[in-house]
Amino acid sequence: MKLTILSLFPEILKTYFEASIMKRAVAAGHVEYSLVNIRDYATDKHHKCDDEVFGGGAGMLMKPEPLDKALEAAGSPGIRTVYVTPSGRLLTQSYAEELSREAGLVILCGRYEGVDQRIIESRITDEISIGDYVLSSGEVAALVLVDAIYRLMPGVISGESLEEESFSKGLLEYPQYTRPALYDTIRVPDVVLSGNHAQIARWRLKASILKTLAYRPELLTKDNLAEDIARLLREAIDEGGWHEPGTVHSSRTNEE
Ligand code: SAM
Repeated sequence: MKLTILSLFPEILKTYFEASIMKRAVAAGHVEYSLVNIRDYATDKHHKCDDEVFGGGAGMLMKPEPLDKALEAAGSPGIRTVYVTPSGRLLTQSYAEELSREAGLVILCGRYEGVDQRIIESRITDEISIGDYVLSSGEVAALVLVDAIYRLMPGVISGESLEEESFSKGLLEYPQYTRPALYDTIRVPDVVLSGNHAQIARWRLKASILKTLAYRPELLTKDNLAEDIARLLREAIDEGGWHEPGTVHSSRTNEE
């Protein structure tokens, strides 16, 4: 995938592409990227990229001319072009999966109060929000979007890791443990250590359902709450339900 990210501060984005899994994905040719400084497309003496908002109100807005030129140079129209904005459509795992199948993507990072609406109407194909909160600028949101997308591309990380993740089956991921089996008086559940794969799979599914019910009940839909899952859910609730983080520890401390 060819990623082109337009920003007024591309240096914020640079190190992300030069480390860890992304660095390997670039070296292996899975990802090509280009970081564009929007200011390079401002033609006035001071390379001005913002101006006051018509009609009044606090703050400045990104001007249309430099954005228009920068987006055109990045291949718009004719390429999927995202503006990251809190007033966009919410990023979900299935939206990231859809975008991961594109051959190329242009991402525009906003600043100040955002960008002139005419740019959104003429150049943007997707307005995407990473969550219901307001960041001071689009660079962090763009990196969240890129990270959610590129790891889904074939060859970047193992398919097996992706299959068991939160949202992959419409549920949150179950709790996981590593050595030692007993840590600070808290023991890994016996079933997880049992070596019985069928029982472990059943325990994990129950834990996933319980966690989803506790934190994100709206994710439990008709599709993932099929008959057998509903039965597992009833069983799991009878067995004690979901433990909020910290509750095992605090009950242990009280006993001591
Ligand atoms: N005036 C805008 C509003 O109320 O919707 C907020 C602008 S925000 C201070 C500046 C920039 O940060 C935005 O243009 C956008 O690029 C980015 N941004 C902030 N929050 C975001 C979010 N939740 N998702 C995606 N981008 C976000």
